[in-house]
Amino acid sequence: VPKEKEDGRIEGAVKIAVGYKKEVDFPNWYTNVLIKSDMLDYYSVSGCYILKPWSFSIWETIQRWFDDQIKELGVQNSYFPMFISAKVLEREKDHIEGFSPEVAWVTRAGQSELEEHIAIRPTSETSMYPYYSKWIKSHRDLPLKLNQWNSVVRWEFKNPQPFLRTREFLWQEGHTAFLTKQEADVEVRQILDLYRQVYEDLLAVPVIPGVKSEKEKFAGGDYTTTVEGFIATTGRGIQAATSHHLGQNFSRPEMFNIAVEDPNDPENQKKIHVYQNSWGLSTRAIGVMVMVHGDNQGLVLPPRVASIQVVIIPCGITAKSSDETRATINNACDELAKTLKKSGIRAKADLRDLYTPGYKFNDWEQKGVPLRLEIGPKDLEKKQSLGVRRDTGAKAPVELENIGATVSELLATIQKEMYTKARDTFHDRLKVVTEWKNLVPTLDDKCVAVLPWCEAEACEDDIKDRSANEKADEAQDERAPSAGAKSLAIPFDQSRWPAIEPGKTKCPACGKDAKRWTMFGRSY
Ligand code: AMP
Ligand code: ZN
Repeated sequence: VPKEKEDGRIEGAVKIAVGYKKEVDFPNWYTNVLIKSDMLDYYSVSGCYILKPWSFSIWETIQRWFDDQIKELGVQNSYFPMFISAKVLEREKDHIEGFSPEVAWVTRAGQSELEEHIAIRPTSETSMYPYYSKWIKSHRDLPLKLNQWNSVVRWEFKNPQPFLRTREFLWQEGHTAFLTKQEADVEVRQILDLYRQVYEDLLAVPVIPGVKSEKEKFAGGDYTTTVEGFIATTGRGIQAATSHHLGQNFSRPEMFNIAVEDPNDPENQKKIHVYQNSWGLSTRAIGVMVMVHGDNQGLVLPPRVASIQVVIIPCGITAKSSDETRATINNACDELAKTLKKSGIRAKADLRDLYTPGYKFNDWEQKGVPLRLEIGPKDLEKKQSLGVRRDTGAKAPVELENIGATVSELLATIQKEMYTKARDTFHDRLKVVTEWKNLVPTLDDKCVAVLPWCEAEACEDDIKDRSANEKADEAQDERAPSAGAKSLAIPFDQSRWPAIEPGKTKCPACGKDAKRWTMFGRSY
């Protein structure tokens, strides 16, 4: 039995490969899982990380799926330069105010100072919209729907965390322009639902769709919709992806002036400034998936995004086994991999001679492969293999006959059960709070507080301050994200909670009239 030290480290770790327990030292657990699963390596620039094939392949799966979906909506891919001139970047006041602390600048080329400093895009609104103004001349040029798969740079000073908050990150950013606000509003929600599907259907991570408060919305936008995730181990919320309606803030005359003649009123040459959206999903999604599903053996991958879904391992071969037995077993593993591949399953036979089955079990467990199939001489006699689920550890024989169909079904079951389990946890941790005194204890219980909230910005500031202060005496981990609660989202589905009675239901923070149920929590 591995001995556990007080700090959560495991002495003489045999089975617990990660070395830190998820529940005891979450930050070290997280980085160890990433390193040991071979997803990630550190890089010489702080806040930047290398995405190795084991994680990049997940990003590619997300890309493929999402790209197909947005193309169905008529979105086209394009590429804009990563540099933005200072003049252009600073044009939208609220936008630049929101981003300026994080913008990285190119100030020098070789030995010479640049006359005009050049920004590296933190997001591409200001890079793209001068050209939208040039390209959109008539209502026939609308809607314009462009997307780019690129990286952006935000020189964040909060503690960097692999995937969740990095200084350069990969994402897609969609930028669309419409003649009417109604069309734009519809698209905001369509995209948000695609984001929900990326998380729930591909990554088996539950999210709650909603709208951000005025304080938390995108700088320069009209409103921001979000899918909010939850890390149960720390009880913190995380903004999983956002779809913004920008209104006419960027298109108005004194901004980028993106306008067409009103097609319904051509006589008067009245101008309509276009309604715009922007929306982004980043590699943060991978980190959320790791945090939600990983365990003390390492990574746990949902089958839909695992680049290897099934690993087949020859067993029961000893030093005394004949070459013939060895060959038979290895062959059977090889054949099984081929059979599974024919059923569209990403399977691999691990026939490495130098390693014991135990070593291989551990290796693939750390890497999170959803299903292991073991085959030994006795299994072959019985025309079966032993299946071991990564998510639950459950073991059961799997008949070789018709195994493609059986395993496909099993993978679908794993995918579904991983999601259901995480969803139940998230929902169990949503706690209604109607009295102030219950807020901090709720957060301390690693829950999200759902408040009947007044939606006033001053009240949100106050909630954040007061919920942080009440924790001030507790030692703060310097890597811990903000301890004060902020609003995470106002869920679209309000029906989960009792109806708010206008004039009667009060905000527990300030006593004013409550408007909507709002999730408050500590967050990343
Ligand atoms: P934004 O355009 O600021 O709403 O960002 C779009 C999405 O990118 C957010 O919803 C986050 O999920 C993600 N994101 C923001 N900042 C970072 C970062 N520093 N590292 C990784 N992902 C990020
Ligand atoms: Zn209030």
